[in-house]
Amino acid sequence: MDYFPLFARLVDEPCLVVGGGQVALRKTRMLCSCGAQVTVNAPEICAGLRELAAGGQVSLVERPFDPQLVETHLLVVAATGDSAVNATIAATARAAHRLCNVVDDGPLSSFINPAVIDRSPVIVALSSGGAAPVLVRRLRQQLEQWLPARLGVLARWAGSLRDQVRSALPGIDARRRFWEQLLEGPLAQRLLSGQAVDVQQDVEMLLGEAESAALPGEAWLVGAGPGDPGLLTLAGLRLLEQAEVILHDRLVSPEILALARRDAEFIDVGKTGGGPSTSQEAINRLLVERVRAGQRVCRLKGGDPYIFGRGGEEALALAAAGLPFRVIPGITAASGCAAYAGMPLTHRELASAVSFVSARLAPGAGDPDWAALAALDHTLAIYMPVARLADVAAALVRHGRPPGTPAALVEAGTTRAQRHVSATLEDIAGVATREQVGSPALLLVGPVVALAGQLGWWAPGQAKAPAPRKVA
Ligand code: SAH
Repeated sequence: MDYFPLFARLVDEPCLVVGGGQVALRKTRMLCSCGAQVTVNAPEICAGLRELAAGGQVSLVERPFDPQLVETHLLVVAATGDSAVNATIAATARAAHRLCNVVDDGPLSSFINPAVIDRSPVIVALSSGGAAPVLVRRLRQQLEQWLPARLGVLARWAGSLRDQVRSALPGIDARRRFWEQLLEGPLAQRLLSGQAVDVQQDVEMLLGEAESAALPGEAWLVGAGPGDPGLLTLAGLRLLEQAEVILHDRLVSPEILALARRDAEFIDVGKTGGGPSTSQEAINRLLVERVRAGQRVCRLKGGDPYIFGRGGEEALALAAAGLPFRVIPGITAASGCAAYAGMPLTHRELASAVSFVSARLAPGAGDPDWAALAALDHTLAIYMPVARLADVAAALVRHGRPPGTPAALVEAGTTRAQRHVSATLEDIAGVATREQVGSPALLLVGPVVALAGQLGWWAPGQAKAPAPRKVA
């Protein structure tokens, strides 16, 4: 972030506006509306500013910029319209460690005023740091329409209940859930729609219920998709925003983690790559413990929880403990890689079946049934293939898949780092070693792989989407 966002309380604070024209008037009005004590310093002062001064909140110092004034003011606004004078004001303010805004001069300013949507006490402030004012204006219009007009009424009402709620519900999780319920519920809707009703009795009833009930814990096994944050489902997002604890894999992208509640507890139980990892038994135990303690736990997994994600084992542990859970599917790596790399998993006349296969098997489980999987019009999506690539390719050829069958490894599919290498079944292991393909990567085998030349569309790093390809 180029700017540190903050809301400053200026009631009775001395603020200096240098300049006596219309721009200075506008800035002075803004400061006055926040309760600041404004000094206006300029050799010539417009009628509007004189009027404000007559009201008592503004004092006038009618002479050219006086650097000594800076010392005794919290904030400085340079609105003289003379760039040399503005530069002097900015330099004086910087030397005195005062925040200074130079009107229409971002580089000289140490603070800027955002675009504002005022539903006091709710204030939405927007800024692009001067990069795209028109974009900010459009955003503001959109948000203005979207935010209920009576949002301020709702916020003030919530504020008036805070002490009562705090003493009734000492636990922070209980309070948070009470507020979520209240603000999403019918009482809040009634206030927002302007129905002037006496809601105090209803609030007391809800508080009574919340006080006597034990906090119900719940686990949510959520598929985060293969990488692109846009591939998270809406149901997954909603739960991610509510969870108090988030147990996540290393495959889950930071962009998706950033969508979770800021104050959630994040626990990395990653099981890929080097470094310490948590055993499946320990994860199951952790889930059960936290849910039993009344927490809402989101178990966030790469791809889909029920495809090589051991989500089934976690759900069984929860079921055995008699605890409630939900499972939200995610887009599995095979679907993501197929779509983004342009390799349809099934395709008329090329592939009438697709199998999701793991190259890494549970200890003692033996090999996959390569004979069944080697059928000719069958696409194979092979997970965790990197360490066993040569073995897997050889087994398929041994069971009748022609050595010339197209095969591709898609690395980091759907992310900005996505790349793929294509070869034949016979050559893919050598090509992957030469190209240093790393995890996570998915092996796709079958004639559909050859469609990538026509159907690949994902071009990360390009600002503009590539022109649609002509299909021969
Ligand atoms: N539950 C996950 C799979 C977990 S197993 C899912 O449904 O996708 C981990 C394997 O998934 C990796 O070894 C790799 O083969 C595959 N994988 C996961 N994300 C991937 C990605 N972005 N690109 C390619 N392969 C990926």
